[in-house]
Amino acid sequence: MVGKKRKIYDVIVCGGGMTGAAMALCLANLKLNVALLETALPQPFSKKQRFDLRVSALSAQTVLLLKTLDVWEDILKTRCHPYRRLRVWENPKLGDVIFNADNIDEPQIGFIAENRIVQLALWKKIKTKKRVTTYCSTTWRQFKYCGDKVLVDLQNGEQIAGDLLIGADGAQSGVRREFQIPSSFYKYGQSCLVASVRAKEAEKDMTWQRFSKTGPQAFLPLSKDYASIVWYHQTEQINKLVQLDERDLALKIMDSFPNELGVVEVIQKGCFPLHKSHASNYIKPRLALIGDSAHTINPLAGQGANLGFQDVICLNNVINTALINGEDWSSTSVLKRYEIKRKIFNSIMMNAIDIIYHGFSNDVVPIRFIRNKIMSFANVPMINNLIMRYATGLGMELPVNFER
Ligand SMILES: Cc1cc2nc3c(=O)[nH]c(=O)nc-3n(C[C@H](O)[C@H](O)[C@H](O)COP(=O)(O)OP(=O)(O)OC[C@H]3O[C@@H](n4cnc5c(N)ncnc54)[C@H](O)[C@@H]3O)c2cc1C
Repeated sequence: MVGKKRKIYDVIVCGGGMTGAAMALCLANLKLNVALLETALPQPFSKKQRFDLRVSALSAQTVLLLKTLDVWEDILKTRCHPYRRLRVWENPKLGDVIFNADNIDEPQIGFIAENRIVQLALWKKIKTKKRVTTYCSTTWRQFKYCGDKVLVDLQNGEQIAGDLLIGADGAQSGVRREFQIPSSFYKYGQSCLVASVRAKEAEKDMTWQRFSKTGPQAFLPLSKDYASIVWYHQTEQINKLVQLDERDLALKIMDSFPNELGVVEVIQKGCFPLHKSHASNYIKPRLALIGDSAHTINPLAGQGANLGFQDVICLNNVINTALINGEDWSSTSVLKRYEIKRKIFNSIMMNAIDIIYHGFSNDVVPIRFIRNKIMSFANVPMINNLIMRYATGLGMELPVNFER
């Protein structure tokens, strides 16, 4: 240790994606000193840029968090689109389920935003916070325990220490790997094609999902003229589709997607294999995992980013309560409260989405009958309202709390 300069923080957050950046801002609001490590800062925004392929449906609860962190206006001003209705169907003759913001007395169900736009707004705010020190040109080399602290050796030779280390470094989390936290991994055997498209004819106040024989097809409005589409199919088919040029791909999309889409022009395209993962623990002594480093979910219901933001709210509130009560806020007993709450909730959401995915991925007649009955059941106002409250996250967790 001789000769090594060590900076001491309350918390070290590794990963400044949407969840890590939001976490760092929350902790600064709790008057904790934070070191935030991020190796790949997002490209600055210009109005001329095309829509990114990575977009998220932000729930009402996520929007509330972003408003509390004072970044929402910035996101709205930059680029983001509201939707009031969410429609799900398989065979239009057998009916559909429509969720409408009016039923939960909200002006909209949520917003579709590019991940980068959300991340940029959070980083802009972080730069105004004296309590957050950012490390962007280096990252961790190794982690060690020293008494009640976690020491982080950085690749640039510096050493930093914190009472708590938070892993927010995404699905391939190096923090999770270094602390030897096992993670389950499940491959669905399908892949998704994502494309940003110009779709002038489609209604833009609605996001929809149609269950086709080959898998779900989703539409997420991005602006008056543009949208993002997601097409689930066998990996082999997706690999062929993604290689088509934009014109041929647009023809395939229009041929296969429901008429609600109308005429499209493909602007950008990409694909990814479909899988999910779940860490067996979210915590270790002086360590917590949040966001995709703890769980990745089938993107079917667009809940990945929202679950990460809910982790942020929960961990913030658990730490704040411990601070108010004069407890050791980074102790295992405090972190356990976060793990118990979030692991159960995330498991329920992952399983619910799997039931929907697998339930719609086969053509056995009785199952087809049952699923369409369930869909009509979801239109019963009380059930419809309950599902919406659960999916938007409203009422499931208290809003983020910085009051002391
Ligand atoms: C196709 C697709 C569609 C999706 N659609 C939706 C949707 O509609 N709604 C929704 O809610 N979610 C959606 N998701 C999921 C959502 O995008 C993710 O859940 C979310 O991006 C996870 O955020 P995160 O901050 O936890 O992780 P990430 O976004 O992966 O961020 C991790 C950050 O850590 C940084 N990092 C990694 N290693 C290091 C290191 N060693 N040092 C420093 N920094 C490091 C990375 O650079 C990155 O910035 C979708 C995902 C996919 C793939």
